[in-house]
Amino acid sequence: MKSLHFLFLSLIAFFALTSCEEIQQKNVSPTEILADSTFDNHSYSNVQQIRTKHLHLDIDVNFDNKTIYGVARHEMVNNGTDTAIFDIKGLKIQKITIGKTKEKETSFMIGQWDKDSILGQPLLVKVDRTTKYVNIYYQTTDATEAIDWLSPELTAGKEFPYMYTQGEAILTRSWIPLQDSPANRITYSAKVKVPTDLMAVMSAENPTKKNDEGIYEFQMRQPIPCYLIAMAVGNLTYRKLGPSCGVYSEPQLIYQCVNEFGDLPKMIRAAEKLYGKYQWEQYDLIVLPYSFPFGGMENPRLTFVNPTLLAGDRSLVSVVAHELAHSWSGNLVTNSSWDDFWLNEGFTVYFENRIMESLYGKEISDMLALIEFQELQDEIKAIEAGDFPDDTKLKLSLAGRNPDDGMTDIAYTKGAFFLKTLEQEAGREKFDAFLNSYFKKYAFKTINTETFIAYLNSKLLEPNDLEFNTDEWIYEKGLPENCLKIVSPRFEQIKLLADRFAAGEDIFKKEIKWIKVKGRKKKKKQINQLTRDKYIAQEWQMFIRRLPKKIDPALMRNLDKHLNFKNWGNAEIMNEWYILGINSGYEDIRPNMEKFLLKVGRRKYIAPIYQELAKTPENLKWARGVFEKAKNNYHFISRNTVQELLYKKK
Ligand SMILES: [Zn+2]
Repeated sequence: MKSLHFLFLSLIAFFALTSCEEIQQKNVSPTEILADSTFDNHSYSNVQQIRTKHLHLDIDVNFDNKTIYGVARHEMVNNGTDTAIFDIKGLKIQKITIGKTKEKETSFMIGQWDKDSILGQPLLVKVDRTTKYVNIYYQTTDATEAIDWLSPELTAGKEFPYMYTQGEAILTRSWIPLQDSPANRITYSAKVKVPTDLMAVMSAENPTKKNDEGIYEFQMRQPIPCYLIAMAVGNLTYRKLGPSCGVYSEPQLIYQCVNEFGDLPKMIRAAEKLYGKYQWEQYDLIVLPYSFPFGGMENPRLTFVNPTLLAGDRSLVSVVAHELAHSWSGNLVTNSSWDDFWLNEGFTVYFENRIMESLYGKEISDMLALIEFQELQDEIKAIEAGDFPDDTKLKLSLAGRNPDDGMTDIAYTKGAFFLKTLEQEAGREKFDAFLNSYFKKYAFKTINTETFIAYLNSKLLEPNDLEFNTDEWIYEKGLPENCLKIVSPRFEQIKLLADRFAAGEDIFKKEIKWIKVKGRKKKKKQINQLTRDKYIAQEWQMFIRRLPKKIDPALMRNLDKHLNFKNWGNAEIMNEWYILGINSGYEDIRPNMEKFLLKVGRRKYIAPIYQELAKTPENLKWARGVFEKAKNNYHFISRNTVQELLYKKK
C-alpha cells in the first residue's frame, strides 16, 4: 500500500510533466500511483474524493468517419480534492475545461495503457478544490470497443447504416470519458446529432418519431450506474405494445416484433405484482441487428434485444422477462463491483423464472429452469478443470482480470438456485415479502454481497429462526447438497422418446386411420404420429441434449427430414443441433451452420460452435475461414471471444 502522501506528491509530479512519453520515460505506472484511490478493481476513478452527479453529453455521431465527436460535461460533487480521475479507453482527448458558464482550460494527464489493456487508462484532471464542473472535449477512435458501426448490408433494411453501444461491464469508458464504476450512480442528459434519415434512442426518455434536424435530446432522471448508458442510431420505427411499453426496430422487422412481444404488458403487470411498482415509467424494447453480442441488455427504459428472439412462436420470450426483471435487480439495486455480479444476475434469473411462472404456469417455468440448470452443471465442470477453479463461488475475486470472466452461469444460475433454495426453506410468502422489502430498501443504491447477507440475516433468517448455509453457497465452490431439485414429468417423457430413437426405434411411424367417406365404405389415411408441434421448443431442446454426444449421422439426417432441426427458427435448438452435428461428423449441417455463423453475432450461440470446431485441425481450418468472413458482423465482445478460441496459443 502506498501512503496518501506519496499519492499527493506523485500527482503533483504528474502535472509537472507535459506528455505521456515523459511518464513512460520516468517509468511511473499510474496503477502504482492510484493504488490508494481505487475502491473498485476495475476503475481508476476517485469517486470518494470527487464524483460525477450528472453527466451531460453534447455529441455528434458521424457515420462517415465512424466517430463520435463532442463534449462530456460532468457536474461533480467535490469533497475538496484538486484532482479528478476518470476512466478512458481508446479515446482521444482534445481539451478539458472547468466551470459552467465561463469555461477555463485546465491541464490533464493520461496514464499508461495498462499491461493487459483491460482497464484502459486513468485520465487525471487538475481541478480547484471547489470545482464542480469538468468538461471533457473528446472523440472516439478505432480502438473504441463499446460501439458497433454497421454498414447497411448488415442491417435488416440494407439501406442505412446503424450503430449501437454496449457498456457492460467496463466498455462505457471507451465511448464516454467518465468514472466507470458501478459504485457511482449518476443522472444524465444528452443532445445527440445524427444524419437526418436516422433516429437516435438512448437508455433515457426517447423520441418515437424521426425529426428533420436529426437532433435528439435525452433525459435520464433516475440515477444509474455508468454501464447502463447506451445509445442506438438507425432507421428506426416505433410501435406501442401497451399503455407504457412498446418496441423499436427497423421498419422491416416491426411486424414480427409486435407479434413476438405481444405479452410484454402482461409481463410488466406480473413483475409489479411480485416485487412492487416499476420505477422507470416507460419500458421499451429495441430489436438490434444480428451482430448484437448478447440476448438482451437491460439498459433502463430501453432494453436492447437480439433479433434471434424473433423465433416466430414466442419460444424465447423468457429473455424479455429477464431484461424486464433487471429493472429491479441490477438497475434499481446494483452490484457495487463486478465481484458481486451475482447480485445482479442471480436475482434476475430467479425473478425472470417467477414472471414466466405467473404467465405460463409452473410446468413451463420449471422446464426453463431445468434447461439452465443442466448448463450450470456443465459450466461447473468446465470451470473446475480450468485455470480459475475458484470461479464457481458466487462472490468472485476478479482483480487483475477482465470482469467479463465473471459472466458465467455461476452468477446467473447458481445465484438463482441459491434463491430458489432459500425460498423453499422460508416459504414463498415470507420470501416474497423479504424480496419486496429488499428492493425497497436498496432502490437506487449499489450494494455488495456482505450488505445483502446482513440484510438476509436480520430480515429473513433470524426473525423466522431459520438456519441456512448462506456462506457455503456464496463463499464456497460448487453446488451445496441442499440445492433445490426440480423434476419435470414432461422432460422425463421426452427423454424416453430420445432414448427410444437412439436405440433404433422408428418414432416417425405413421398411424393408419380409417376415415368414412360419404355414403361409401371407409378409406385408409396415414397420419404422422410425431410432428414438430407436438412438443414445445424447450422439450425438443431436451430431446437433442438427451441423444448420445456422438450419434450416427444417418439418425440425424432422419430427424432433419421430419423435424428440420438444422433450420428450425429457434436459435437455441439450431445451436445445440450444430454442436451435436460437428461432434458426430454430420456434414449436412454445414451450409445452414455457415449461414448461421455469418448472420448471428450473439456470443452465447457462436462461441460454443467455434469451440467445438476448434477441436480438430480440419474443422478448425473451416471455422477460421468462416470467421474471417463473419468477423466484421460481430461486435468487439464476440469477435474477441472467438478470436481467442480459434487462434489461442497452444
Ligand atoms: Zn441479466
